[in-house]
Amino acid sequence: MSQRSERRGIHVDQSELLCKKGCGYYGNAAWQGLCSKCWREEYQKARQRQIQEDWALAEKLQREEEAAYVSSHGSSQTQPPQSHSQQSLATFSKFEEKKTNEKTRKVTTVKKFFSPSSRTAPKKESHEGKTPSPSITRQSSIETDRVSQDFVEFLKTLQKPGREIHKQSRGFIESMGNKKDLGAEELSECVQDFYQGMSDRLLNHYKGSSEKVDRIMDQVEKYIMTRLYKSVFCPETSDDEKKDLVTQHRIRALHWVTIQMLCVPVDEEIPEVSDSVVKAITDIIEMDSKRVPRDKLACITSCSKHIFNAIRVTKNEPASADDFLPTLIYIVLKANPPRLQSNIQYITRFCNPSRLMTGEDGYYFTNLCCAIAFIEKLDGQSLNLSPEDFERYMSGQASPRRQDDTAVWPQSGTCVNPALSQIHHNLKLLSSLEKRQQQVIEGAQNLQTELAEWQDSVAREVQEILERYPLEIKPRASAIDAENVENDRLPPPLQPQVFAG
Ligand SMILES: [Zn+2]
Repeated sequence: MSQRSERRGIHVDQSELLCKKGCGYYGNAAWQGLCSKCWREEYQKARQRQIQEDWALAEKLQREEEAAYVSSHGSSQTQPPQSHSQQSLATFSKFEEKKTNEKTRKVTTVKKFFSPSSRTAPKKESHEGKTPSPSITRQSSIETDRVSQDFVEFLKTLQKPGREIHKQSRGFIESMGNKKDLGAEELSECVQDFYQGMSDRLLNHYKGSSEKVDRIMDQVEKYIMTRLYKSVFCPETSDDEKKDLVTQHRIRALHWVTIQMLCVPVDEEIPEVSDSVVKAITDIIEMDSKRVPRDKLACITSCSKHIFNAIRVTKNEPASADDFLPTLIYIVLKANPPRLQSNIQYITRFCNPSRLMTGEDGYYFTNLCCAIAFIEKLDGQSLNLSPEDFERYMSGQASPRRQDDTAVWPQSGTCVNPALSQIHHNLKLLSSLEKRQQQVIEGAQNLQTELAEWQDSVAREVQEILERYPLEIKPRASAIDAENVENDRLPPPLQPQVFAG
């Protein structure tokens, strides 16, 4: 591995994963390198400042308004009390308007342009626009019911405190129903406050048995977040969606990066290794389908364990942290997991903080955040390429595949991994089926319009013919028999005869 020492490479000092305040917990880029605990302290300070500034602004506006009122009404000093209250109301709405303007300027998601502004529209209507398909709704409501049932069953084992936990959790979910217009960070703050209060009370009740409290808190998180998921995952007030698209495009643009460029110690020709790689990719993709933050974390942990296994089998020795990060980057590049940033943000905001700050879940999650940060700033130097080559590959003017055919991705002609090539083949098949389905739908629509036109044209034609040849009923001619004048000349009718025999 002499190549490794020449590169600046992908390496993170383990101390960089920790909180910048030196408290010993894992930090996170979303919290500016702090752990959840230190970040909350900072955030609360900042929020206090914001509230004070808001008040100062409101007071200033009110003073201006009052000064304007006094000058426009000359020296009339007796002010009717009613008009004063109206006036301060107007001041307040102006202040709200100003705040709203500031907020909408920040939010530039595509969604925002198409949806009615949730702040100006009447509250009741503002959230009825989103109607997921009935099957999805049914499926998710079945899941919600099951989770609620499990929660109640679990709480029964706790007896009296269980009832209290249930009451508070339900009360909290109801109170969140009125807060849909809040920003993502404020929603996170509400949920984190609830976790904090609940776990404090539980610790108090169970005399500091943190293991038991963690177990209960996991169930509380599961219950609450299953119910809140739809309204707080990738909320309209955040730019999560925009970030998702940026990351997705970035990963797509890096499709040419090979296992060799990243110095990933994984040999996919070994069946067990390629099996682990496929499982790791599946796990990280599956993260998006989970609703509970902790279940999403579990996907990341499972993915990471498959990665460690792939490295261990390839190298025939335990994997080191230095091997892990580049391999995780490789897996993320290959998987291009859906809504990656939204999922990271969701976990950061709504996971029980003790799970993120310590333990293996916290460790793997922090590494995943690191991997994404690396992908965002990946350049030629970190891949052992000249800046010119990197640019040419990024712009699609050249492809590294032609120069080094053994370092190809499985998607191209020479396949390293039969399972992956099968997946690729199936995906191609699916997309061609989709195209054909689209054609069939278009054909059916055309046929429908043609049929309607044909029906109209036939009706028109019939009408025209009817107008051209109107139906006239002529007086009835006399009966045929009337003309048979010489009836008496005809032979007599035959008579039936009976033959004896
Ligand atoms: Zn800290």
